[in-house]
Amino acid sequence: MISGIWYTEDHKDGVTLSLKVKETLVSKRTPFQKLDIYETEKYGTLLTLDDLVMTTTKDEFVYHELITHVPLFAHKQPERVLIIGGGDGGTAREVVKHPTVTHVDMVEIDQDVVEMSKQYMPFLSEDLTNPKVHLFFQDGVEFVKKASTAYDVIIIDSTDPIGPGEGLFNSEFYTNCLKLLSDDGILVAQAESVFNCPDWVWQTFAKLREVFPVVKAYLGTIPTYPGGLWSFAFCCKQPEVAQFFDEARYEKLQLDLRYYNQAIHRACFALPNFVQKLCQGRI
Ligand code: SAM
Repeated sequence: MISGIWYTEDHKDGVTLSLKVKETLVSKRTPFQKLDIYETEKYGTLLTLDDLVMTTTKDEFVYHELITHVPLFAHKQPERVLIIGGGDGGTAREVVKHPTVTHVDMVEIDQDVVEMSKQYMPFLSEDLTNPKVHLFFQDGVEFVKKASTAYDVIIIDSTDPIGPGEGLFNSEFYTNCLKLLSDDGILVAQAESVFNCPDWVWQTFAKLREVFPVVKAYLGTIPTYPGGLWSFAFCCKQPEVAQFFDEARYEKLQLDLRYYNQAIHRACFALPNFVQKLCQGRI
């Protein structure tokens, strides 16, 4: 919510995040949600949906590099990638940095998010016009029900498990995603804040463990996200896939990244005890 020159997100646990705003660039209601884009003083351009922070210029790289390069360097030869959500374009931008990737399907429920990101956040949306990227403006829940072609990597870059994003956190959706995953395929999903909403984290991992033989958690710190410390779920069918890191391809590509590297790939899976309990359902 904006009041005067401050945008404030209420974290609903007696904590709020406020960012000083220089200018409101967009404020509209789409068929699915309230969409606002602000130019802030310290965090650059800020996209919010239903008054919740989605991404900012200053810290988006942490989230987008972790949700893409971890699965893409853990897969031997990632060619076909499915992105569910991701309307700002940051995830697609990172995915197409991998030359092995030949085909990306991106399923975003809200076309306005893509259009507004193209207009106001080109540093995120620049690759949404890449010929490898195929955009579908529909509900991801329906897409995975009907799709039949397998993917090497599925990335769920969704909003929270409320509103349009709710259906992206249930067992039926995960089961349909499992059917679309190749035998050595990997699914990753943003899995919420371990400090701010541990219940959502616990429920998400519990449902994923019902469906996927292998479920691991990894972490990253995104300053403008509630509680900062954010969890991601890494899911696959074969344990050895979860151990693999393509060092040769990593060295050969020499991608110019700001957060992700070989050490981070290993370290992000090192979990503090309270997160281990949360993600392994031992609380
Ligand atoms: N990084 C952000 C986060 O963690 O909160 C998410 C960024 S991205 C903008 C989330 C996208 O998911 C939004 O553009 C939203 O419209 C889209 N989305 C929400 N529910 C969806 C659904 N059921 N199917 C497809 N896209 C959906």
